[in-house]
Amino acid sequence: QIKTQFGFDHNQITLGNGSNDLLEIFARAFVSEKDSVIYSQHAFAVYALVTQAINAEAIEVPAKGFSHHLEAMAAAVKDNTKLIFIANPNNPTGTWFEEAEFEAFMQKVPANVIVVLDEAYVEYFPEKFNSLKFLKQYPNLIVSRTLSKCYGLAALRVGFALASVEVTDYLNRIRQPFNVNHLAMVAAVAALKDEAFIEKSREVNKAGMAQLEAGFKALGLNYVPSHANFILVDVQADPAETFNKLLKEGVIVRPVGIPNHLRVSIGTEAENAKFLAALGKVLGLEAKA
Ligand SMILES: *Cc1c(COP(=O)(O)O)cnc(C)c1O
Repeated sequence: QIKTQFGFDHNQITLGNGSNDLLEIFARAFVSEKDSVIYSQHAFAVYALVTQAINAEAIEVPAKGFSHHLEAMAAAVKDNTKLIFIANPNNPTGTWFEEAEFEAFMQKVPANVIVVLDEAYVEYFPEKFNSLKFLKQYPNLIVSRTLSKCYGLAALRVGFALASVEVTDYLNRIRQPFNVNHLAMVAAVAALKDEAFIEKSREVNKAGMAQLEAGFKALGLNYVPSHANFILVDVQADPAETFNKLLKEGVIVRPVGIPNHLRVSIGTEAENAKFLAALGKVLGLEAKA
């Protein structure tokens, strides 16, 4: 199904037990203890974890606002750099970059450095970015996708990576031969074919995003514009404390280690409304129309 839908042959596809499994495979395939790995501040927490797991040097490049600073990341490459992780859109910030910026980045990165483009949330903004065309141009690029987010199959654990034949060969040497179970694969194939579901998810997400943005504005709170299925809001208060207060109101959000900010997932209209009311209550803010 991946082959017919994305136009890549089996020798360019690597399956993962969720894309977390893949992120670890990438690091283990290409990085050893004396090497370094680059990722951004405020990026997906797993990049730091897989780097630490192989005891490699971690180079965390300061973010630009809440976004990846791609120019600085390319400039941070050292002789021992083997791999760069980037997420587009990023988790936990929801920020994104466009094709031109990515292309300029790829041109600066040496061809012997693997670039992992983690597209866990790409289904939520397909019109902005076509990563797959870059795979033909850059044999050192790996594009990582997951069935866990827009497809809604997180508990089944299916992810896949697209890359050059050479890179895919290395990844499959590291991958456990039966890392994805058969039932998960059957479900994944059905999910990939279900374009109507993705379309609906996108619509619900878009409407929910607009609802939360309007709600934050009414409460006088700043937020970070997002292209994912969550949004980072500046609650102007301690995130852990606000998280606990919201929990008592029956709403679970995520403190993500960014001062004053909480990440909240886009829900249904009713869930979003419940969250906004609870947020106003715990922060002591009055919504203004
Ligand atoms: C959720 C997420 C993943 C991986 O999720 P899996 O369930 O392991 O596929 C990877 N990258 C980012 C940025 C994510 O947010």
